[in-house]
Amino acid sequence: MARFDIAVIGGGIIGLATALRLTEAYPRHAVAVLEKEPAVAMHQSGRNSGVIHAGIYYAPGSQKANFCSTGGRLLRRFCDERGIEYEMCGKLITAVSEEEEPRLADLYERGTANGAEGLEMLGPERLREVEPHAAGTRAIFSPNTGIVDYGRVSRAYAEEMRRNGGELLTGAGVNGITRRDGRLYMETPRGEISARRVINCAGLYADRVARMMGEDPGIRVVPFRGEYFSIRRRELVRGLIYPVPDPNLPFLGAHFTKRIDGSVEAGPNAVLAFAREGYGKASFDLGEALETLAYPGFWRMSAAHWRTGLSEQYRSLSKGAFLRSLQALLPEVRMDDLAEPGAGVRAQAVDRRGRLLQDFAISETEDAIHVISAPSPGATSSLTISRHVVEMAARAFGLTERGRSAISMPNGGLERT
Ligand SMILES: Cc1cc2nc3c(=O)[nH]c(=O)nc-3n(C[C@H](O)[C@H](O)[C@H](O)COP(=O)(O)OP(=O)(O)OC[C@H]3O[C@@H](n4cnc5c(N)ncnc54)[C@H](O)[C@@H]3O)c2cc1C
Repeated sequence: MARFDIAVIGGGIIGLATALRLTEAYPRHAVAVLEKEPAVAMHQSGRNSGVIHAGIYYAPGSQKANFCSTGGRLLRRFCDERGIEYEMCGKLITAVSEEEEPRLADLYERGTANGAEGLEMLGPERLREVEPHAAGTRAIFSPNTGIVDYGRVSRAYAEEMRRNGGELLTGAGVNGITRRDGRLYMETPRGEISARRVINCAGLYADRVARMMGEDPGIRVVPFRGEYFSIRRRELVRGLIYPVPDPNLPFLGAHFTKRIDGSVEAGPNAVLAFAREGYGKASFDLGEALETLAYPGFWRMSAAHWRTGLSEQYRSLSKGAFLRSLQALLPEVRMDDLAEPGAGVRAQAVDRRGRLLQDFAISETEDAIHVISAPSPGATSSLTISRHVVEMAARAFGLTERGRSAISMPNGGLERT
């Protein structure tokens, strides 16, 4: 049986960054990442917009505000050192009517308070100099926003973690966890794997993994699919063009995104999905759908946001409606510009009162840390989230600094195996 000191469940960008940080800070501890898929970053971390966010939107004092801009800087340094391509192409958040301008002004204040560097408020002329095809009455320009391939970043974290002595076990989906003699035993298709402590970074299944350990995370992950189209006329977009978001929702609104491979995408919307890894419009998992429907928080959320939910469903089913919402930002885009649909699924945490959690949610118990919710800008913030998680683990698990071959546990210092 494989035995480790710390098992990180989930080989997405957060689990890999966490394992990397653990192997750097505590090199004598045996660390493994258990990933259910044959490769890393096959879900949120490999299916996102690829934006390095500057930290504009988030409530001052929130973890998102605290982690995002520093996370972006650390990420760029990591990419510089490993030769991973990224581009600081800049981003516009555009108000398309005068009614949106007060919210744009609020965002400007908020972004500046959060430490997003170099924000500029642009009038219509300067806006058109930055993005000649964009509509808008005013816009925030953020020069410190960029693009990168987070799948590539995740694989680089994994390589570095393995160089430091950590192990990556793919095809090792954790289906059950039991406790015996101060250790945790995880059932996986690769057999039983044991660890003294666990860090749960299972993304769309983080709440389920917490429940496997007998914890009540107090939220349920409700999957929201984000659908994209590739835009044929790339010349319409130079960088990133975003709408002013609805302040009541955690999503940023369908936008135009230049990708690091030079392609341009439009999306994502936010459509309720009936399978946690349901990337197709018809994806359906009976067990997962029933689980969502049985959750009181789901019904309270639906009652509060039914209008937006229905309009997102309509925009998902009607390409014409999707196009019209894009034309508000970029009037020249046409139906025959929309090609190659794709999708990602967001893990959106919803509490029992039906509130959509806006911030990251990370909790600890004696033998586990649970990254219960790490939505956007989770990829941008991966290196700051991982530092925070490892600091929590050091405290909760009593990890000692470099040079010790045992995890000194609060319950009496178990030997490392
Ligand atoms: C459509 C979309 C657009 C986004 N755009 C951006 C963006 O532009 N910029 C940004 O910063 N962020 C963005 N995000 C958010 C970002 O992608 C996430 O914050 C980040 O990827 C979360 O990483 P993770 O490791 O928590 O989750 P994941 O990448 O989902 O990884 C979790 C891993 O756990 C594995 N797993 C699950 N259950 C088990 C189990 N029982 N046993 C073993 N393994 C298990 C899964 O297979 C998966 O590999 C976007 C997200 C989406 C969906």
